[in-house]
Amino acid sequence: MSAQSTTDPHPPQALDTATARALRAVPSRYLADSWRTAASGREFDVRNPATGAVIARVPDCAEADALTALAAADAAWPAWARTPSRARADILHRLHALMIEQREPLARLLVLEVGKTIAEARGEVDYAAEYVRWYAEEAVRTGGRSTLAPDGGSHIITVTEPVGPCLLITPWNVPLAMATRKFAPALAAGCTAILKPAELTPLATLALARLALEAGVPDGVLTVVTTADPGPVVQRLMNDDRLRKVSFTGSTQVGRILQAQTGPRVLRSSMELGGNSPFIVFDDADLDVAVREARTAKLRMGGQSCVAANRFLVQDAIADAFVEAFAEIMGGVSVGDPFDDAVDLGPLVDDRAVGKAARLTDDALERGASLVARSSAPDTAGSFFAPCILDLVPASAAINIEEVFGPVAAVGRFRDEEEVIARANATEHGLAAYVITRDIDRARRVGSRLQTGMVGINRGLVSHVAAPFGGIKQSGLGREGGPEGIAEYQQLKYFAAPGLYV
Ligand code: ADP
Repeated sequence: MSAQSTTDPHPPQALDTATARALRAVPSRYLADSWRTAASGREFDVRNPATGAVIARVPDCAEADALTALAAADAAWPAWARTPSRARADILHRLHALMIEQREPLARLLVLEVGKTIAEARGEVDYAAEYVRWYAEEAVRTGGRSTLAPDGGSHIITVTEPVGPCLLITPWNVPLAMATRKFAPALAAGCTAILKPAELTPLATLALARLALEAGVPDGVLTVVTTADPGPVVQRLMNDDRLRKVSFTGSTQVGRILQAQTGPRVLRSSMELGGNSPFIVFDDADLDVAVREARTAKLRMGGQSCVAANRFLVQDAIADAFVEAFAEIMGGVSVGDPFDDAVDLGPLVDDRAVGKAARLTDDALERGASLVARSSAPDTAGSFFAPCILDLVPASAAINIEEVFGPVAAVGRFRDEEEVIARANATEHGLAAYVITRDIDRARRVGSRLQTGMVGINRGLVSHVAAPFGGIKQSGLGREGGPEGIAEYQQLKYFAAPGLYV
């Protein structure tokens, strides 16, 4: 294992012992059967978005390193696929227990690299661990079916098999949960996996890989490749016949590039891409429920989520009351040090994210939207952005078309169901939608016409380990979570056997 440098030239709040220890526990990279640095010896910086300071340096893997990881994944696959599912499940159960035991150091790493608050970070560790437990339980329940063909001439017997070595590419906003949502079902199914974390947030993933090793995941079954230049490294893996599957969570833009790369080898893929979720409030809604759930849908992770409410569409008769009540929340968000329990929101992930939120806000204001309330943000070196709420945002504003990924609530108003359904569906995305109404018939009627993979009814949160998370249209392919999530890592084989009357 190589030494991890933890240079922070100007720490804002000196790292407390627990955090410093968490950081020291991060290995540089787990590759094949040892902790190693990149063959080139190159490294890249990981920064704390609350301060801008460098908190760690990790190996900058090149194509050759990625191929080493793939060779390990390919070599480990046959034995792992033959390992009884009960034994695979036991290892995942141990990993779940270790993650819970190590909740605090893992959470602190998430705060340091993502900038999410410590409360949200603890929640992410629990959520991430729950995927490991869920798929430990699913591992032993996968099966096939056996039927007699209607003509009696043959028996049809189906079995599931692991697809093989998988490349799992994760985003920076929920690094641990997106990693376990992919590798737990992959390993449960008998696949081996190469994790490629986002360059902004590799630390918690590396710490997790170390726990996986401790839990008994064999050499080569799970490896981590960190790189500052994912394009060529990923493409090299995609071109290699040994790779059997790619699962990606990230922007639609990168998803399109990867989907194109699957073409030549007809590579299996799962894609969780961007969203543009409408949050629809009907005038029969319970206002308290509408505002409470709007807060969840907009402010969880500061809006840096693909299922965050992107557009608030509010029916005319309730719009003034909703805007007034929601403005009180948006204007009162306390922004600051994410380690401080009293703070609602830390920094955004980097200055680019701040620039985008500011650009989208300015564009809406220029197009005639009104600024109803704005909270404040620390005027320090970190990537802070003051949350705000805009009313009367025209449909043509960029904020209604692009993914905001920030704490800006854009409210537009509508007259009736037909209008709001048309506006909600007027996007290339189809991930999640939220419908707030007390009328159950309306919820079902509108929900069934919304072109999304997920609909929250009187709820601003749809993610759950037991539920199939995923989108339609350009929001993706496949589902993660629930019993559906493991099927993404299995292929079906059918045996034709002699029937009754042969
Ligand atoms: P975001 O815009 O939210 O940062 P991205 O789609 O750029 O999301 O990143 C999600 C993941 O995709 C990250 O792990 C990132 O390193 C990876 N990635 C970015 N560009 C490419 C690419 N050209 N090929 C493969 N992976 C990429």
